Amino acid sequence: MHLARFPKYQLGHFPTPLERLDRLSAHLGGPEIWIKRDDCTGLASGGNKTRKLEFLLADALKQGANTLVTQGATQSNHVRQTAAAACRAGLDCHALLERRVTNQGADYETAGNVLLDQMMGCQYDFRPEGLDMNAEGIALSETLREQGHKPYFIPGGGSNPIGALGYAACAQELVCQADAKGLQIDHIVHATGSAGTQAGLLAGLFALNAPIPVTGFSVRAPRQKQIDIVHALAEQTARLIGVRGTLPREIVIAYDDQVGPGYGQPTDEMVSAMLLLAQLEGILLDPVYSGKGFAGLVSMIRSGAFKKDERVVFLHTGGSAALFAYGHLFENQKAA
Ligand SMILES: *Cc1c(COP(=O)(O)O)cnc(C)c1O
Repeated sequence: MHLARFPKYQLGHFPTPLERLDRLSAHLGGPEIWIKRDDCTGLASGGNKTRKLEFLLADALKQGANTLVTQGATQSNHVRQTAAAACRAGLDCHALLERRVTNQGADYETAGNVLLDQMMGCQYDFRPEGLDMNAEGIALSETLREQGHKPYFIPGGGSNPIGALGYAACAQELVCQADAKGLQIDHIVHATGSAGTQAGLLAGLFALNAPIPVTGFSVRAPRQKQIDIVHALAEQTARLIGVRGTLPREIVIAYDDQVGPGYGQPTDEMVSAMLLLAQLEGILLDPVYSGKGFAGLVSMIRSGAFKKDERVVFLHTGGSAALFAYGHLFENQKAA
C-alpha cells in the first residue's frame, strides 16, 4: 500500500494521539483500553471526516472545482468539517441538511454544528426526512453548474472510495504507532454510519496484512444492511488502493444493538457511557455516533467479550460539537 500515489490536501494534525486509558481500564477491570484520538484532527473542532476530506478536496481541486456540495443530517459533523475544508482551500460550500431528527428541542436546528456551519459561511438548506439525499445533492450541483459555478459533490459522510482512503491511511498510522510502542492491538472498536471509516480501516489493514478485528457499532442501519454497505465500500477501496485478493465478507463485524429508537435518538446506555468517559478521563464523546460506539464497547466488555489482558483500541471519531445541540440530555447529570 503506497497512499502517496493519491493526491492529498493537508487539512489536519496527524498523527493523532494514541493514548492508554488507565483509569477507565482499572474501573472496568480490563481489558487494557486505548483510544485513538481522531476527535483531535484539528479541523474546526476535529473528527473523522477530516481524513476523508484530505483526499476528497485534493480530487476536487484536481478537477478544477470552486464549490463543495455535500449533505448530511442537521447536526452533521461531516457538513461542518466540509465547510471548514472549503474555507481552508478558498472554495464555496453548499450543504443540504436532512431533518432526520425533529424531537430534540429548540437548539437542534441552530446550535452546535449548525452554528459552526453558519460561522464558516456555508450555505445550507433543509430537506424533509426520507429523500434520497445524495440524489438531492447531485441535483443541487447541476443547478449550481448551470449558474456558472464549478461544483464538486461529496456524498454523505464523505464515504466513497476516495474518502475511505483516509481511513486506510489511519490504519497505517495506527499500526505504525502501535509498533513503535511495542503495543499489540487485539481489537478496534468504533461507531459506523456511512461506512467510510470502517471500510477504509478494513481495506488498509487487509493491505498491511494486519488482520486486527474491527467492530463497528451501527448508529442507524440494521446489522445485515450495515455489513453489506461496509463490505461493498471496503472492496471498492481495496481495488482503488490496488490490493490483491478479495476481502472476505466475514471480516466485517457490525452490530446494531446501540441504535436504540433511531439515528440521533438518545439511549440511556449512550448517556451513561458518555458520562463514564467524561468523568474518568476528561474525554468528550457525542450523542449521535461516538457515544453509541463507546456504549457498544462498554457493553462488550461487561459481557466478557475480551480477556483481561487484551488490548482494545477505541477509535474516537469526534462529534463533541453536537453536544451543544443536545444540552437537555446532560443538564442535572451528576455521577456516571
Ligand atoms: C460520521 C461520523 C461517524 C461515522 O463514520 P462513517 O465513516 O460515516 O461510518 C462516527 N462518528 C462521528 C462523530 C461522525 O461524525
